[in-house]
Amino acid sequence: MEKYIKAISDGYYGYWNYLVNEILNPSWHNYFYWLIGASFVIWLLEVFFPWRKNQPVIREHFWLDIFYLFWNYFLFSLVAYNALSMVAVEAFNDFLGLFGITNTVAIKIDQLPVWVQLFIIFIVRDFMQWAIHMMYHHVGWMWEFHKVHHSTREMGFAALLRYHWMENILYRTLEYIPLAMIGVGITDFFIVHIFTLVVGQLGHSNLYIPLGPLRYIINGPQMHLWHHAKELPESHPNGFNYGISLSLWDFIFKTNYWPSDDENLPVGLPDEEHYPEDFIGQNLAPFQRIFGKKKG
Ligand SMILES: [Zn+2]
Ligand SMILES: [Zn+2]
Repeated sequence: MEKYIKAISDGYYGYWNYLVNEILNPSWHNYFYWLIGASFVIWLLEVFFPWRKNQPVIREHFWLDIFYLFWNYFLFSLVAYNALSMVAVEAFNDFLGLFGITNTVAIKIDQLPVWVQLFIIFIVRDFMQWAIHMMYHHVGWMWEFHKVHHSTREMGFAALLRYHWMENILYRTLEYIPLAMIGVGITDFFIVHIFTLVVGQLGHSNLYIPLGPLRYIINGPQMHLWHHAKELPESHPNGFNYGISLSLWDFIFKTNYWPSDDENLPVGLPDEEHYPEDFIGQNLAPFQRIFGKKKG
């Protein structure tokens, strides 16, 4: 137990120093300013080249989503991610230790060139995220948390960051396990995080991005709009298009559904009309529903 506490406290102590340092020292290797910069550029693109021409520049719940953007950043940015990952790895190793397994590194990739390692990390993480995202749509209590993300009724770049903090915990712990197993030699995934952020914001944006044949590999706004569809087809009652940065997994595993490019497709929660529209309400709703259900 002590080592878990130590892993968390080391991680968060480092995190606090990192946050202060990050805000005081703008640089190219700075997630905080990348987040602001990328958001601003993509928002400008939405202003000048909107896909839905009638959507207001400051769409419904725009400021709520901007608040979420900073909230999720401050609560769980890169170093907090490390703290959680350390706990996950300790726990995973202890679990395997119960069966007498002490070496979890299945394949070592730390001898490969850095760019090859980064590419492998990106692919492995994106696949894990696709699988975890699918679980969010199929497991009842997980869906309650994921509903926050799907409660948006007008899509824009900032909708990416509207999600419950519990999502961070599950994603950040589970996605690290295969990375520990491939013996990643680098700890700096900065470029992977920035790429994922930009693709994610574009995927939620009010932009039409003609990807051509690349649409079978990269997740764009036309495909992800369908993921947020308010009405689900009978063929896919729990959802579809679970890809985060890559659409590839959906095409490989046949979880894709993209009948047309319809910019006016109604989006929102398929099973309810009146979801809380404020930050506190949205943060409490999953807990109230999960524990409320158990009583009844
Ligand atoms: Zn989803
Ligand atoms: Zn989304």
